[in-house]
Amino acid sequence: MNSKLIILCCCLVLVGPNIDAQNKSKPNLIVIMADDLGYADVGFNGSKDIPTPNIDQIAENGVKFTNGYTSYSVCGPSRAGFITGRYGQRFGFERNPQYRVDNPNMGLPKTEKTIAEHLKTVGYTSGIIGKWHLGAHKSNHPLNRGFDEFFGHLGGGHTYFPKNLVLKDSYFTGDHIQIPNEEGGGKTWRAGAEIASYRTWIMRDHEPVKTEKYLTEEFSDEAVRFVERNKEQPFFLFLSYNAPHTPMQATKKYLDRFPAIREKKRKTYAAMVSALDDGVGQLLNRLKELNLEENTIVVFLSDNGGPEKKNASNNGVLREGKSSIYEGGFRVPFAIQWKGKLNKSICNYPVSSLDILGTIADLTKVEIEKDKPLDGVNIIPFLTGKEKGTPHKNIFIRKYDQKLYSVRDGNLKLVVKKNGNRKELYNLEKDISESNNIASSNKEDVKRLYNILNEWESELIDPVFLGLIHTKAWRNRTKKKSQKK
Ligand code: CA
Repeated sequence: MNSKLIILCCCLVLVGPNIDAQNKSKPNLIVIMADDLGYADVGFNGSKDIPTPNIDQIAENGVKFTNGYTSYSVCGPSRAGFITGRYGQRFGFERNPQYRVDNPNMGLPKTEKTIAEHLKTVGYTSGIIGKWHLGAHKSNHPLNRGFDEFFGHLGGGHTYFPKNLVLKDSYFTGDHIQIPNEEGGGKTWRAGAEIASYRTWIMRDHEPVKTEKYLTEEFSDEAVRFVERNKEQPFFLFLSYNAPHTPMQATKKYLDRFPAIREKKRKTYAAMVSALDDGVGQLLNRLKELNLEENTIVVFLSDNGGPEKKNASNNGVLREGKSSIYEGGFRVPFAIQWKGKLNKSICNYPVSSLDILGTIADLTKVEIEKDKPLDGVNIIPFLTGKEKGTPHKNIFIRKYDQKLYSVRDGNLKLVVKKNGNRKELYNLEKDISESNNIASSNKEDVKRLYNILNEWESELIDPVFLGLIHTKAWRNRTKKKSQKK
């Protein structure tokens, strides 16, 4: 062996264990987010008609949260909260964005840092697979917001069958676009930008790719490949399934699993959830095979509550669903596993999707800008019992356009409807379904919680971009609905 080679070998021996120790102090993070999944539609929250054995493994191996919240009750703002670890209302992301490839301000403000940007500073490789929904302008593309890899779609409600993905270019312009029919024949139809965005090809990084499988399967396969590619270094994977968001589409393979469900929409929904569950199984199995389980935190959650009428989801005993400020809107199926670090348990105090960034940032000693403190905290010490008490004094939501608010303080929850000057108070421990308004007999608590809420609101700003609700198509739809009534 020549002398240069001997020196190199010595260096490798010396450096090897250090890198290993370093990586061990930097756990991988996998966040699996479902879209519009009902609170009661996972086995670990009691689902009987839709088995989710793979998702259940996460709760089985770790901690199930009965009071897990997202920071908003619809897709875009909820994701903006998760991805920054801060309430979106602090930086004006309070509406579902319109699909505007020509507007750099329609999406996550550049003043905010994403979880991927934070983790880059401590040596992580980050990937997002699936739904983005944080802005369709190129400047807001995941690769321009800290991610190293992207395989997915920029908009909200993607269609699932490859034959329906007929628009190659995700950056099409104009309010309306001609869409070829599904078989690619001569006929076309004219669609609004939002609907057209649901039919674009999937992007791999910046390039459109022609996919062949049912979309949920494409995302699951890609997630496994991402982990295989990045197993040697600390990684963050955001597996952002668009399932089981509308359109309601499933393949025979999954539909056939539910012969007992007669109602068509529920059956399709069940099939979509089952496909997602298979994907979670694929990923967890590969993680185990690669011996990465003990060095990987896996979180599962939905981005908001189930829109029960739209996709036949079920929020169980929780009141209302997606877009509501009642519990069904933003208390979601939520579980975490970290083999060897977290014991199997059930956590009944409130935690938030904002805590995912709070946790990984604290564990990896990410430096957080002082003028933009996180709302999320590291929940691991609370889960291990090292830290006493609970991570959050309060859980908030504000819906600016509707003038709706709520604040949770312990087991009390105040709901404020500023448009009608109405206040409701519920004791969630005794009344999980928010059916018994105890405001009139608890005036002091109403006043106290109202003050907490107003103090929080004084830190917020108005929305910085118009939303989906301001598009002509949305207004027409709402008009039609009210005429029907
Ligand atoms: Ca959603």
